[in-house]
Amino acid sequence: MLDDLRRLSARIGRDIEQVQAAGGNTSLKDDGLLWVKASGLWLADAEAHETFVPVRLDAVLRGIESGSPDPTAGAVVTERNPAGLRPSIETTLHALLPHRVVVHTHSVRTIAVAVRTDAEAELERRLAGLAYAFAPYRQPGLPLTLAVAAATGGRSVDVVVLGNHGLVVGADDVAGAETMLAEVERRLDAPLAEAPRGDGEALRRVGAALGLKPLEGHVLDGLATVPPRLERAAAGSYYPDHLVFLGPRATVLPDDSAKARPIAAAAREDGGRLFLVPGVGVLLDPDANPGADALAACLGHALGRVPDDARLNALTPEEEAALMNWDAEKYRQGLARARGLGREA
Ligand SMILES: [Zn+2]
Repeated sequence: MLDDLRRLSARIGRDIEQVQAAGGNTSLKDDGLLWVKASGLWLADAEAHETFVPVRLDAVLRGIESGSPDPTAGAVVTERNPAGLRPSIETTLHALLPHRVVVHTHSVRTIAVAVRTDAEAELERRLAGLAYAFAPYRQPGLPLTLAVAAATGGRSVDVVVLGNHGLVVGADDVAGAETMLAEVERRLDAPLAEAPRGDGEALRRVGAALGLKPLEGHVLDGLATVPPRLERAAAGSYYPDHLVFLGPRATVLPDDSAKARPIAAAAREDGGRLFLVPGVGVLLDPDANPGADALAACLGHALGRVPDDARLNALTPEEEAALMNWDAEKYRQGLARARGLGREA
């Protein structure tokens, strides 16, 4: 069955609307072992090289139950892990769910709902009849696992929507997980709203002047050409991988390199990797981690599916700082400094 899971993992890993870069993870419980995706590896590569790590399921579950700060420590079966892979940060979540197969994605359709302040009401309407739970945002890892445990309250659920994060489905086998994933995707589907194209020529000119990489395509263009998307992208970050790959919120730059240069420099200093030139297009810091362009597209896909009148929950400065291991106070000062610069422009 692990080979079936490798196939499903590679397929969803190649679908930018489900998984971007090293995001998402899958697992299989078999004979007391939990085979879980390794940290930092890409689901897209699941068939190309070993991507799964065996951990002892009972050890992880005992660790969660006893309140251990790191329930996966010492649980890896090292003799069956020759590459020395580290289990995913979400290993405890995979262990907690009773299903043999668990699939966690950063589906853009799910994110478009999971970032809304009315996500719970929206899910009640769209997922009616499915055994599902909604878990409000928590830091990935053990805090998220405990939030999911609290949200299910011992109920048996096959679908968990993670607030400001993504989707988890579980099933008895890989085909069942695939069917459930498709069903949730269908129910949460929303059309990607039309967006005017950007101005590729102007984008390349500003990009060259500032040393930033132009990202083109109609999904990305919408972030710069549709005012509500641009405002939302500039107002904050909405899910963990955005922050990890692209830094906090997108930075709006004027279509004038001399004015844009100090704004871009200050934003890069504070970890900002994504830049929007209104009406023109999207620019990426060339030093961003590999996969950052996939996370930029993810934002375009997700915000392009959010209705204009919806209200969104951005991650708080404390949540952002925790994700980046930043000092929260220094981070808040940096935010204030960057906002001040933005106003002067
Ligand atoms: Zn995740």
